[in-house]
Amino acid sequence: MSLPNNDISMRKLKLFLFLILISILKLSAADSPAGPIRILVITGGHDYQKEQFNQMLAALGENITYQIAELPAAYDMFLSQSRDRYDVLVFYHMWQDITDEQKKVFSECIANGKPLVVLHHSICAYDNWPEYINIIGGKYFHKPTVLNGKEYPACSYIHDVNFKVKIADKGHPVTAGLNDFEIFDETYKGYYVDPGVTTLLSTDEQSSTPVIGWTKMYGKARVVTLQSGHDVPTFGNPNFRKLLKQSIEWVYNSGKSN
Ligand SMILES: [Zn+2]
Repeated sequence: MSLPNNDISMRKLKLFLFLILISILKLSAADSPAGPIRILVITGGHDYQKEQFNQMLAALGENITYQIAELPAAYDMFLSQSRDRYDVLVFYHMWQDITDEQKKVFSECIANGKPLVVLHHSICAYDNWPEYINIIGGKYFHKPTVLNGKEYPACSYIHDVNFKVKIADKGHPVTAGLNDFEIFDETYKGYYVDPGVTTLLSTDEQSSTPVIGWTKMYGKARVVTLQSGHDVPTFGNPNFRKLLKQSIEWVYNSGKSN
């Protein structure tokens, strides 16, 4: 009878299979995100249709969960001890007031790698904080403004415009699977766009600035800015929803594989 030896061989085999199983589990854990992408939506300083906006957020799918924080209380969410509660910032605010300390914490939060998606009237926030232009890559001017030695006239807006959004960069993950589409939204004309951004979306609509979607880096963080997003027709536009979802997913991967 050679049972003892067989027992040892069997134990070795079981240990070997166990170690392989552990390796496979570790590999798959590294390849997939730990859970859904937790977005923190910052609002304040501008009204919006909350119910339909939240429906749009809820429709982003199981891989994205959301929480809303309103300024000025939302400034606490930029503090280092709050940043691990969410993965991606989404701006849908038009806040103006900010202290020097808040500016420091706010810009550090993003520069240190907290990714950001900027929507619509957040292009119009912080009229008196030039660094905000570097963070989001653009600025709507409420009044004539001098920037980098050049004078820009006040911008203008028109509600309820039906116009065509052109996909300017078809090879980008944010625009993947999208073709040029129609949108019914508010346009902004004359806003500043940093020449260093990568243009994702454009339009020939005369009441709009030609560049209406772009991406840039701010420190370690990816930033995507989309001009669209005034109200219900856009919240329900399947192309806009796809853009928003893919923007969130892409900025989330800042510093990761692509
Ligand atoms: Zn608007």
